[in-house]
Order: sequence, then structure tokens, then C-alpha cells
Amino acid sequence: MVSLSVRDVVVTYPAAGGGVVTAVDRVSLEVARGEVVALLGPSGCGKSSLLRAVAGLEPVVAGDVRWDGENVLDVPVHRRGFGLMFQDGQLFVHRDVAGNIAYGLAGMPRAEQRDRVAELLELVGLEGYERRSVATLSGGERQRVALARSLAPRPRLLMLDEPLSALDRNLRERLAGEVAEILRRAHVTSLYVTHDHHEARTVADRVGVMIAGRLAQLGAPNEVWGAPASPAVAEFLGV
Ligand code: ADP
Ligand code: MG
Repeated sequence: MVSLSVRDVVVTYPAAGGGVVTAVDRVSLEVARGEVVALLGPSGCGKSSLLRAVAGLEPVVAGDVRWDGENVLDVPVHRRGFGLMFQDGQLFVHRDVAGNIAYGLAGMPRAEQRDRVAELLELVGLEGYERRSVATLSGGERQRVALARSLAPRPRLLMLDEPLSALDRNLRERLAGEVAEILRRAHVTSLYVTHDHHEARTVADRVGVMIAGRLAQLGAPNEVWGAPASPAVAEFLGV
């Protein structure tokens, strides 16, 4: 069952010398309920622009974005029910771990907030970290807290933009497997942006390869790596 449907979306920016830069060029894709789709491509190919457009943080020049068939382009960012997570986690340093995770739970009774925070800490493998100061966490722990915080309000779509890119290679490879597991256990429909091939293969049910603003191929990892749709895709994948 299709949840997110992106149709012919175009995102542009003003170019330095006048005119426009087309960052996203008529991209269409669908994400089914509970599915994890990775957007993989070189730096500057338009991955973040597409994510931001779906979130409502960037205007969509043409095309539309639908959730369960309903156009969400006129729905304000905070009413879309979409969660976001970025490379730097953007945790609040003056709050402890529980305070960070509970950030999106305002309005929920305190006891329920406490239970939800504990449940999320268990999900991301940080049981008992409630009172830890964010400043004492390692980079990997911070990103787990950031993931817990974005999952806390039960977003109907979670969008992750290079969530592991700031971590060193070994940790990134290990955490990619854990993030994949966490997203599955949370049953959250996800759009996951990365430039890292291994990460895309590890987390995603399907991988979309973006090149120069276009979605060049979308398929299961074995299809994409087994039969690249064009020489440009093959070259980027190194196959
Ligand atoms: P990616 O996330 O794949 O690295 P981006 O979506 O950030 O790619 O960028 C796609 C293109 O749009 C690049 O050419 C980039 O320079 C340009 N771009 C991104 N953001 C802006 C902006 N705010 N103003 C002008 N150009 C931008
Ligand atoms: Mg980016």
C-alpha cells in the first residue's frame, strides 16, 4: 500500500549569475507503508533538496507530494506528521537525554512521556540513559538519541538526511545495521538520504540512485547493483 507519493517534483534555486539551478528535476517515487527507501547519489545531486521539499522546507516549483492520496503541499511543515533527522543530530545541549527525547511529546501526561522515553531508549539500545547529559555522549550515542527523539511523536514518515555521515567509518558501518533494525522494529515508513553505498544497501528495502537532479534508477539493492540502468549509474556504483 502506497503511503508517500512524489510526482514530477521540481526544486530550483536562484543561480549566482541570474537564472535558476534545477536541484531536483521531475522526480517521481512512491514509498509503501513501513518501507525504507534510500536515496543514494553523489554530493550535489539533489538528495537533500528533495527531502526538504517533501518535508515542506523547500518550495516545490512543479509536481506534487501526496500522503495516502492526499496532496500535502498546502499542509504546513509541522502539520504533515513527518519527522526529520540530520547529520549533526541537533540535540539540545542544555537538556538531558530524556529531555531531548520528550521534546516532541509536549501535551502528553508526564507518566506517559516517561514510559515513551524509556521505550525509545530501549529501542535504540540506550536503556537507563535518561539522566545523562548530552555533552557526555559519544557521536554514535548522540545519533541514537536523535533517532529516538525523531521517532518519539510517531511520525507517519521519517526522513533522515545523512544521519551517520559525521561518524567514522567503522562506527558508521555498525550503526547502519542497527538503524536498519530500529526502523524495522518501529515500523516507520522512511526516506533515507546517504552518499554511502554500504549504508544504502544496509538500511533500505529499495534504493533510488539520484544523479544530477534526476532519479536515475529505483529498485531493490540486488537489482540496482546487479543491473544498473545506465552507464552513469554503473559508474557511480563502481560496477
Ligand atoms: P545533495 O544533498 O545531494 O548533496 P543538494 O540538494 O544539497 O544535494 O543540492 C543540489 C544542488 O542544489 C546543488 O547544486 C547545490 O549547490 C544546490 N543548492 C542546494 N541548496 C541551495 C541553496 N540554498 N541555494 C542555491 N543552491 C542550492
Ligand atoms: Mg545533502
